[in-house]
Amino acid sequence: MVSNVESTSQLMQCQTEAPKAQVEILAPRDVPLGGLRAMPVRRTLPQRQRSLIGAWCFCDHYGPEDVAVSGGMHVAPHPHTGLQTVSWLFSGEVEHRDSVGSHAMVRPGELNLMTAGRGIAHSEVSTPSTTVLHGLQLWVALPESARFTEPTFEHYVPQPVSIPGGTMLTFLGGDSPVRTFTPLLGAEIRIDDAVELPLDPSFEHGVLVDAGPVSVNGTDAAPSELAYLPVGTEAVHLRGPGRVALLGGAPLGEQILMWWNFVGRTDAEVREYRAQWQSEFERTATATQFGVVPGYTGAWIPAPEVPTTALRPRG
Ligand code: MN
Repeated sequence: MVSNVESTSQLMQCQTEAPKAQVEILAPRDVPLGGLRAMPVRRTLPQRQRSLIGAWCFCDHYGPEDVAVSGGMHVAPHPHTGLQTVSWLFSGEVEHRDSVGSHAMVRPGELNLMTAGRGIAHSEVSTPSTTVLHGLQLWVALPESARFTEPTFEHYVPQPVSIPGGTMLTFLGGDSPVRTFTPLLGAEIRIDDAVELPLDPSFEHGVLVDAGPVSVNGTDAAPSELAYLPVGTEAVHLRGPGRVALLGGAPLGEQILMWWNFVGRTDAEVREYRAQWQSEFERTATATQFGVVPGYTGAWIPAPEVPTTALRPRG
């Protein structure tokens, strides 16, 4: 969720793909996250059919999960590059620590955005007060012009806004003061009966259904499915009741390479990120790119083995 801790990580070359239909339903795949009692997540991005929506490049939906059964979230320090992580909870509480010294609680309805830029390490642990864990872990790819920016962490609490037929919490884009590096939209929409919203037609959008089913411009989408709306779509009509996350953005127009928790551009670059993290993990580094996570005393997460074959573009 917070981290991609799949034991077998696959290199994925990601780029903006042409639309295949007016509403394209992207089905989730179940991914068991690592750990003692692996918590399952439903992943809709990236996938073979589509790897980017705007700059959104990763979408995991998890819970509602009884932490007395699942053990909750315990993700030890691990690195990121070239992306922003967007943590959005519907229920529960997660303690975030990172190597720029941030220490924050992730709570429902509150945006926590970590910009990895040139490199960061972080940990995420659900708190003892959490009984049900339920949320989204999203990543945004940084464009070439910003991908080596200094790492930062931001917290923002959007005000719920009543709209006809529901309530909207816009955490990125719109009135959100949080800076993004490409034009983006991120919002939770609670649908009482039906909601109609104008869209920026220069954006592509995805509607991730949390509670539903929800009809998206006439096409039914089940919980954990992601309904894709191509550039040129001028409005979205959501018929519930239900709850969704609306993700939008201008097409990135760049090819990115995702492997494990890294976003880069070339096979060699991603291998270098891995080698650097391993040298810091083994405490053999002479310089640190990712740093240490103050306040976290347990073991870090080692990088998986890198594939022996070089990445080739898909498609
Ligand atoms: Mn992470």
